[in-house]
Amino acid sequence: MSDKTTGVLVQHQAALAEGRFLIQKCDGCGQHIYFPREICPHCGSDAVQFVSPSGQGTVYAVTTVRRKPADGGDYNVSLIDLDEGPRLMSRVDNVKPDDVKIGQRVTARVVVADDKGVVVFDAVGGAA
Ligand SMILES: [Zn+2]
Repeated sequence: MSDKTTGVLVQHQAALAEGRFLIQKCDGCGQHIYFPREICPHCGSDAVQFVSPSGQGTVYAVTTVRRKPADGGDYNVSLIDLDEGPRLMSRVDNVKPDDVKIGQRVTARVVVADDKGVVVFDAVGGAA
């Protein structure tokens, strides 16, 4: 891993730790990129900039992971399509795991714990 690659990942993680969710936009082709990288996967340009996404997205796929209540209970793993285009793996936090539906509109939120930020999503308007 080059220093430059460490650079974007460190910048991304540092922003998350401050509660800011950043994705990238390519100046070459105009497409958005997530997870952060040095080179645009669409056109190969290195003119990629961090930008703040709208935070709006749609659930593309969802899986409920079964877990004993003593271990924290069931949780969901969701693939979210951001309105800007990129798809990321996250979870929908404000409804029961079984209530997360494909097509559900969601909003991004950063949860910071132990100086690390994680992007999670809330269902818009609660359970569908
Ligand atoms: Zn590009």
